[in-house]
Amino acid sequence: MAKIVCVLYDDPVSGYPSTYARDDLPKLEKYADGQTLPTPKAIDFQPGSLLGSVSGELGLRKYLESQGHTLVVTSDKDGEGCTLDKELVDADIVISQPFWPAYITAERIAKAPKLKLAITAGIGSDHVDLQAAMDRGITVAEVTYCNSISVSEHVVMMILGLVRNYIPSYNWVIKGGWNIADCVARSYDVEGMSVGTVAAGRIGLAVLKRLKPFDMKLHYTDRHRLPEAVEKEYGLTYHATVEDMVKVCDVVTINCPLHPETEHLFDEKLISKMKRGAYIVNTARGKICDRDAIVRALESGQLAGYAGDVWFPQPAPQDHPWRTMPHHGMTPHISGSSLSAQTRYAAGTREILECWFEGRPIRSEYLIVDGGKLAGVGAHSYSAGNATKGAEEAARFKKV
Ligand code: NDP
Repeated sequence: MAKIVCVLYDDPVSGYPSTYARDDLPKLEKYADGQTLPTPKAIDFQPGSLLGSVSGELGLRKYLESQGHTLVVTSDKDGEGCTLDKELVDADIVISQPFWPAYITAERIAKAPKLKLAITAGIGSDHVDLQAAMDRGITVAEVTYCNSISVSEHVVMMILGLVRNYIPSYNWVIKGGWNIADCVARSYDVEGMSVGTVAAGRIGLAVLKRLKPFDMKLHYTDRHRLPEAVEKEYGLTYHATVEDMVKVCDVVTINCPLHPETEHLFDEKLISKMKRGAYIVNTARGKICDRDAIVRALESGQLAGYAGDVWFPQPAPQDHPWRTMPHHGMTPHISGSSLSAQTRYAAGTREILECWFEGRPIRSEYLIVDGGKLAGVGAHSYSAGNATKGAEEAARFKKV
């Protein structure tokens, strides 16, 4: 029988909800590329309930315990003596979410001799040292597509929020003001602007599709070019390098995975090639941007705004400069954890577990590492290596 350690974010400060704002979720048949939604044999939760926090347990307890397995759920994941470290010692499986990531570093892997499977209940497995996982033969899987559209909606919201100066204007209302000039002195229309995505995968392309009706000029760069028919349908301009693309963009949205090739891609040098007054929206991973270069660019006016929901490390310590830099529209890492997305990634996690325990293959679209190498979707979109360095700083976060 297996021991599963599941690391989830804390319940709401007001307690686990007993009621919700809405009664149902729309029923989706399949994703835009035809991929089927998660197909577990059964689920033991109400779609639309809070599953991603500790008491939600991803809806897994009944299923796992009925099979004789042990489930430990905790949010205590950082710092010496944390519950994760104590429980990982004899765990077979670890489940974590990118929003509140259990950093599975080489040191942790070395102290977890039985660990065989690391599941990301979401998308993006950069919180696992993939090289160390490969070396130890640990399988890494994520729930591809489960929240890609959720994130693309958040990106569109953030682009409009930044360009139209929404948050400062909202704050004037809260302060009791009617300060039109203060609000509009940094407010523009997106119509006619050039927007470019770094990566046109599931999220990147969905962002471009959603921005087309705003009459923006659409650009992308990616390791693999999209089919000509797609470029034509949406009027996309392809750039072979990120440098070529950022030079012409008013807005850049980052939608590639974090792996050694993309770590600190947006550094001082690349940002200096952008148009003065450009905006960056990064919902991919905090480490794709150089933290201090972003702050300096906002202070100097090289960037007019920066928004996103991804930080490094997570949770970000109270003194993380992105909390206080000018012209930002940051949220905690929430874009991929709407109640709608949670239903899909909880079901996808259950599907992966069912496959694992029943000896059935995990869908290749869910695999990142398998058999000691990058596999499935991981072989297409990631490069080998480790992006967890510096994760120990997450222990400096203090709950409020
Ligand atoms: P996809 O795998 O569909 O897309 C990733 C794309 O990135 C692929 O097209 C890949 O190219 C491309 N890519 C990889 N490396 C580079 C590079 N060096 N330069 C340009 N393009 C590159 O994943 P999703 O779109 O679903 O998700 C993308 C990322 O977004 C995730 O990895 C994750 O980090 C983040 N994410 C964030 C969430 C949040 O809550 N904020 C939730 C979900 C995801 P190719 O395959 O052609 O090689």
